[in-house]
Amino acid sequence: MDCPKCKTVHLRATKLEQGLSAMGCSNCGGAVISLLYYRDWLERSAVIVDEDAFKPSEMLEVDESHSALTCPKCKKIMSKYKVSGDSNNRLDLCASCDEVWLDGGEWELLKSLELSRDMPKVFTEEWQRKLRKQALEEVREQRLLKVVEQNEIEEIKRVREWLNKHPAKQEIMFFLNHE
Ligand SMILES: [Zn+2]
Ligand SMILES: [Zn+2]
Repeated sequence: MDCPKCKTVHLRATKLEQGLSAMGCSNCGGAVISLLYYRDWLERSAVIVDEDAFKPSEMLEVDESHSALTCPKCKKIMSKYKVSGDSNNRLDLCASCDEVWLDGGEWELLKSLELSRDMPKVFTEEWQRKLRKQALEEVREQRLLKVVEQNEIEEIKRVREWLNKHPAKQEIMFFLNHE
């Protein structure tokens, strides 16, 4: 198998963690991992606490392949799945082979986000929908920031949260709109 990014570099057996085998590229630091092995590793290492995990607040800047990658095994185009709202990184998945391509540093990124033991979650529609919702909220907030101050945003969010929970939300909105 050759590296889907570097093309000509041969992938070699490596380990992402103790007991978690992958095929890695010595050139770009990326690795392809079988979800079958991954699930097996999860079960076997369930009791071990990940002591060298990064703190969630630490955000890593890691390399990200923006162009579509072909699966090193079956050569089909891999699908990209955004990891989090704060990073541009995407995991590449080949659904046919059940294999994931991690760019160099992305395993560490997953650890920093406390997702390394929850990786398949990234491939769910629910997770992706949540990220899209966050991104939209971010856009709306940026738009609002052009006309109000940052501290007002906090107040507006607080009021919105209160309003959303209120059983008379519609009536209050009507009242506010018709002063
Ligand atoms: Zn490579
Ligand atoms: Zn494949």
